[in-house]
Amino acid sequence: MTQIANELSFSLQPNENPKSVAERDAILANPGFGDYFTDHTAVVDFKVDADGNGGWSNARVEPYGPIAMDPAAAVLHYGQEIFEGMKAYRHADGSIWTFRAEANAARLNSSARRLALPELPESTFLESLRQLVSIDRNWVPSQDGEALYLRPFMIATEAFLGVRPAREVSYRVIASPAGNYFGGELKPVSIWLTTTYARAGAGGTGEAKCGGNYAASLAAQMEAEAQGCKQVLFLDPFNDNAVEELGGMNIFFVFKDGTLVTPELNGHILHGITRSSVMQLAADRGLKVEERKITIDEWRDGVAAGDITEVFACGTAAVITPIGELKTADGVIASPAHGIGPVTAAIREQLLGIQTGTVEDLHGWLTRLA
Ligand SMILES: *Cc1c(COP(=O)(O)O)cnc(C)c1O
Repeated sequence: MTQIANELSFSLQPNENPKSVAERDAILANPGFGDYFTDHTAVVDFKVDADGNGGWSNARVEPYGPIAMDPAAAVLHYGQEIFEGMKAYRHADGSIWTFRAEANAARLNSSARRLALPELPESTFLESLRQLVSIDRNWVPSQDGEALYLRPFMIATEAFLGVRPAREVSYRVIASPAGNYFGGELKPVSIWLTTTYARAGAGGTGEAKCGGNYAASLAAQMEAEAQGCKQVLFLDPFNDNAVEELGGMNIFFVFKDGTLVTPELNGHILHGITRSSVMQLAADRGLKVEERKITIDEWRDGVAAGDITEVFACGTAAVITPIGELKTADGVIASPAHGIGPVTAAIREQLLGIQTGTVEDLHGWLTRLA
């Protein structure tokens, strides 16, 4: 299918009934994660015409609200859906910025290719964020550790029950003020090791950011919660129980010589943008960074021998969160650093500093949105 490239400009239909300043202030005082949404949403439609040419059109910002959709819409039956997760940060001068948005645009398009959805031009992606954040700029929180979480997503809206890529698709962005993903103060989280479920496999959709991967992780997440854990760790049972990642976060190990190790991208690990940023910042600090296979046995033995000194998870939503312990069916692997270890803390502070404008952005990672 050929895709018609055109520069889209967004029309604006302001919300006639936005939240009052008092309501918004009450939400911003304690935003939680993913519970509240701003007054607007950005939308762009995609359609394949009778000649088989696909194109994006009708870019707009409209009031936030329910989506009217045919009950036969393909996304509701076959899960043809992808998404992104990023944040908008308020800097001290009031300007609003986002982090490595080009990487999110590229990843959205690689997810789109895997889920047989149309690619969205990077310029339209960036403009959708600018438009939404500009009109809802008062929703960007300003407290330490807070940001406006942005959720771009793409869904197959065509009403058709045959199985083939949908010819009608909708791209949208919603925004939600966000505090600490795990709630309250930053403290080490407990992780459950599932051996019942896998998140992804060779040739599957593990590299794509798609809702289906998350649906498939929920039974494991319930197992974790039943064990009193906040998140679940997945292994690759066909590869010596190599550590892969958490349900929605990548993982790093800090060794006593300062080396950082993270599982190599093997075709079914999500290419985290926080992951790649941590690798860069660690290298900038002169630390050795290895992307390689690390098995659950190496984790257990490495902690026991004192070779592994810190373990942390990372992703846009949770930033960098220390892992306190890994609970498994055969006992607990406790992380050696109680609280947040020094390497984890230093990289976390630097990353947050770049994002919030207090540390120099040497890599040109920030894009101004408003
Ligand atoms: C989004 C996501 C991550 C983290 O990616 P970031 O770009 O750092 O936010 C890690 N693993 C999975 C499965 C994800 O969906």
